[in-house]
Amino acid sequence: MRLHFVGGIDTVTGSQHIIEANGKRVLRDCGLFQGRRKEAAARNRDLNFDVDSIDAVVLSHAHVDHCGNLPTLTRFGYDNPVYATSATEALCEIMLRDAAHIQEQDAAYLNQKTNRKGLDPIVPLYTTEDAEAIIGCFQGVEYGATVGFTKDFSARFEDAGHILGSSVTVFNIHENGRAFKIGYALDLGRRDLPLIRDPYIMQNLDVLVMESTYGSRKHGDANNASEQLREIIVKTFERGGKVLIPSFALERTQEILYDLYSLVEEKKLEPLPVYVDSPMANAVTRVFFEKWDYLDEHFMKRGKRYGPNIPHWMHFVSGVQESKNLTASKEPAVVIAASGMCEHGRILHHLKHGIEDPKNSIVFVGYQAAHTLGRRILEKQKDIRIFGDEFQLGAEIHVANAFSAHADRDDLIEYALESKADKIFLVHGEEKEREALAKTLRNEKLNVFTPTAGEVVEL
Ligand SMILES: [Zn+2]
Repeated sequence: MRLHFVGGIDTVTGSQHIIEANGKRVLRDCGLFQGRRKEAAARNRDLNFDVDSIDAVVLSHAHVDHCGNLPTLTRFGYDNPVYATSATEALCEIMLRDAAHIQEQDAAYLNQKTNRKGLDPIVPLYTTEDAEAIIGCFQGVEYGATVGFTKDFSARFEDAGHILGSSVTVFNIHENGRAFKIGYALDLGRRDLPLIRDPYIMQNLDVLVMESTYGSRKHGDANNASEQLREIIVKTFERGGKVLIPSFALERTQEILYDLYSLVEEKKLEPLPVYVDSPMANAVTRVFFEKWDYLDEHFMKRGKRYGPNIPHWMHFVSGVQESKNLTASKEPAVVIAASGMCEHGRILHHLKHGIEDPKNSIVFVGYQAAHTLGRRILEKQKDIRIFGDEFQLGAEIHVANAFSAHADRDDLIEYALESKADKIFLVHGEEKEREALAKTLRNEKLNVFTPTAGEVVEL
C-alpha cells in the first residue's frame, strides 16, 4: 500500500492526498492551491495524478483549500462518489457554486484585457457545469460511519472540530496479511471552540498524517478572542472609524457573529451596526441553522436564544446596491466580508475605500497564506494593490489569531502523542512551521517525517 503526498504538503493550500491499497486509489481532498496568480493557475489546472485512476474521494471539509478543485475532477470525466458528512455536502453546494462563479468571472475579466492584445482567450479553471457535476457525486455520511472501497479497505469519519461538518478520517486497510490503521488529521480543530465540538482523537494508529499550519505558534485562549475584538471595536468607534473584518464566509463569520451576539447579550457592548456583506456567508449561516445537531452542546444551550431570530443590529447584506451604499458610508460599523485572505469578494471594495483611513481598523481573524493580499496588508508591505490601483496603508492592523479554527503547536503535540502513531507525516504547513513542529515532536521521541510534494511512501 502507498501514500501519495500530492499537494498541500509544504504549503497550507491545495490539499491533495492519495491512499492506494487493495488495487484501489482514494483521493483524500482536492483543494485549490492559492498564492501567486500564475503559479496557482498552473498548479490547479494540471493535476499531478491521473483522474481516471481515482475510485473515490473522501472529503474532510468544505474550505476551498480542501474541496475547491473538485470540479476539475469532473472536467476530466470523474463520476465516482465523493464521500463527506452531510453538513460538508450542504456547505460544498454553496462553496463550489461560488468558486465556479469566481473562476468564470476571473476569466471574463482577464479576457477583456487580453482581447485588446489579440491573445488567445483564457478558459476558466472550471465552470458552473463542472461544479454541478461534482455536487451530483456527493454521498453524505454521518460521524462514526464507515464507507468501504473493498472489503479490506475502508474509511471512518470522525469530528475534526475544525468547522461545521469537518472530519478526520481513519483508513483501515488489510493487505498481504498485514493490517494498517492510518489517520488523516488536516485540518485539525481546537478544544473549546464556541460553536463546534472538540476534535475526535484517533488512537493506536500505524500512521498519522497531520497538519502543521501553526507548528511553531501558540494561539491566545479562544475565550480571549471576543475580548480583543470588543476592545478594537470600542476604540475604533470612539474615533469614528469602521472595523473591517476579512473573513472566511464559512465558520469564522458565524463565530464572530456569535461572539458579537454574546457580547451584546452580556452587556459588554452596546448594540452596534454589524453588516455581513457576503451573499455566501448568508447562505452558509442558514446551513448552520439547518445542521443544528452538528454543533456543540454548549452552543445549543445558549443558542436556543440565538436561534433564527436575528437581532435588529445585525444586517445581512445581499444586493449589490446595498453593498455599495455600505462601502461608501462613513458611519462607524463592523463590516464582515469575504474572502478571508482578501483574494476575492466584497472585502476588496471595502478595503479600497477604507484602507487609507487611519480611523479604520482591519482585523485579521484567519491565516493569511504567502503572496495573498491579506498577507501583504498584514506584513504592512508598501505595494498594496487593489483592482490594479496602489494604496497607502493608513488603517490600524490587528491580528486576532485566537479566532483560529486550527490547532496550535501545543494542540498538535498533544494530538500526536495521544494518537500513539508509529509514524507521523507532517504536511499542510509552510516550511518554517513544519520543521519547527518536526523538531519538537522528535524531542518527544516520536518518529516524524516531512515528505516533499509528489513523494510516494510505500508501507
Ligand atoms: Zn479548513
